[in-house]
Amino acid sequence: RPCRALPLTCRVERTFTAIKPDAVNRGLIGEIITRFERKGYKLVGLKLVRPTQPLAETHYAELASKPFYPSLVQFLCSGPVVAMCWEGKDVVRTARKMLGATNPLESDPSTIRGAYAIDVGRNVVHSSDAVSTAEREIALWFRPEELVEWAPTSLQWIYE
Ligand code: GDP
Ligand code: MG
Repeated sequence: RPCRALPLTCRVERTFTAIKPDAVNRGLIGEIITRFERKGYKLVGLKLVRPTQPLAETHYAELASKPFYPSLVQFLCSGPVVAMCWEGKDVVRTARKMLGATNPLESDPSTIRGAYAIDVGRNVVHSSDAVSTAEREIALWFRPEELVEWAPTSLQWIYE
């Protein structure tokens, strides 16, 4: 009996994943969302955002000293971004594996970046690199009321 209630109540991770302007312009929104849906993760936040420069700067603040930082910030502000929050067991680490290496030429071709990207500055998708980073990024991109609590009917078929 408890195993049926467990997936609904057990504490699970959340991560922040973003479809970058290159992927939005290339019509890859559906492809990328589909990968997370089919994996079994639960979407709890979703919106189309045109990031301001301060938002992009804060998002990538840890990279402020890098030579590519100005162009990275400019790129993120250059068009719409699909901001998402995904929830599920081990989602932070697993989403990073689903994305592949930062440099798409080093990514396994079965990953999102490996399948859809070539240049490191046009690598189509972002996802938080740690649970603590995810908490910061979710709070940066979403207001609390924009995150939806719900229980998909599929949960018992995804978690044992
Ligand atoms: P990620 O966590 O895999 O996205 O990689 P990082 O946090 O290290 O870098 C953030 C983003 O900056 C990456 O997704 C790339 O788009 C970009 N980036 C990282 N390293 C480089 C680089 O050496 N050159 C350029 N042009 N862009 C980079
Ligand atoms: Mg990163």
